[in-house]
Amino acid sequence: MKTTTIDSIISNALEGKDLCPSEGVFLLQQTAPEAIATIRQAADILRQRQAGDTVTYVINRNINYTNICEQHCSFCAFRRDAGESGAYWLDWGQILEKATDAVGRGATEICMQGGLNPDAKIDGATLPYYRKLVETISDEFPQLHIHAFSPQEVQFIADQDGISYSEVIASLQEAGVDSMPGTAAEVLDDRVRRILCPEKTDTATWLEIVGTALRLGMPMTSTMLSGHIETQSQQIGHLEKLRSLQRTAKENAYPAHITEFILLPFVGQEAPKPLRNRVKRDQPVLEDALLLTAVARIFLGNDITNHQPSWVKLGLEGATEALNWGCNDLGGTLMEEHITTMAGAKGGTCMAVETLQEAIHSLGRPYQQRDTLYKKLKQTANSTT
Ligand code: SF4
Repeated sequence: MKTTTIDSIISNALEGKDLCPSEGVFLLQQTAPEAIATIRQAADILRQRQAGDTVTYVINRNINYTNICEQHCSFCAFRRDAGESGAYWLDWGQILEKATDAVGRGATEICMQGGLNPDAKIDGATLPYYRKLVETISDEFPQLHIHAFSPQEVQFIADQDGISYSEVIASLQEAGVDSMPGTAAEVLDDRVRRILCPEKTDTATWLEIVGTALRLGMPMTSTMLSGHIETQSQQIGHLEKLRSLQRTAKENAYPAHITEFILLPFVGQEAPKPLRNRVKRDQPVLEDALLLTAVARIFLGNDITNHQPSWVKLGLEGATEALNWGCNDLGGTLMEEHITTMAGAKGGTCMAVETLQEAIHSLGRPYQQRDTLYKKLKQTANSTT
């Protein structure tokens, strides 16, 4: 009976039909090796049809400009109070130095996110501080793509300065932000958010900010923090909300869309104790992450083409395996990563281009450097496997 049901769901998916939420949950509930193999294979076929065989990567640098944060997310090992041991706040010279180093190492993108620091103001307002963060880089290196500020940071700026989300986004865009990360999504379900990140935006606000960004022509990525307290039904509910957001953008011909989906399996080793005790999980369970990766491809692939695993969370070996479960991109070099590493992730803080290429090559698939918006940069492709 179960086999028949899986077969019919998979056969519909392979015909290009959408999964309904209950079908997505049903796939996630499978434990039999044959069923899981069928789901993996379907995700791999859809990945091949929707995104091709080539696995892409981006040369980028992360800059986490401060870890001083007014919020207290229950999973976060990164945040500090001002003055606390380990608290830092990069000055303009340090920001520029990191951007200069990134350019020297071939980066096409700077990815910037940080804590919500209420002291980050210029002349008493928050937006000018964030604009200066961007302009410090974009004035010197206009060729760099600046991928910066989560919906949570947009809400923070808007609240601090008493302005609208669209004013914040338009102003950041004018300063030089080219796209924004769809982080701070965690799981888009308020029952989960009340425990995980009670001070963060609620689900409706996160969706409103991302929808506003797309309407204003700001491309967004999308993410899900998985494997903590959420249920399978909440995981699928999250995917359903992303799918519907992307459809709204397409149906209304918004000038931007969601460029990729990144699964971020929970790393709990150094997470604050209450959540760590509740989840009782130090590192991601690879099997769970891979099944969810495959179901995400099947559920979202018609609308969001590019799927990326996190080598920071899964390690390079796990992330490379995820390329067989529906992913078509191996992410970025990052050059430095603090947020997940401080939570105890074992994947490392940076990745050499050659290491990413070798990992892809080990699967017998071609690799190719891309820019942030998935434009392929021809000169760094390999033509043979
Ligand atoms: S996850 Fe972000 S918003 Fe939450 S406490 Fe950590 S730095 Fe602050």
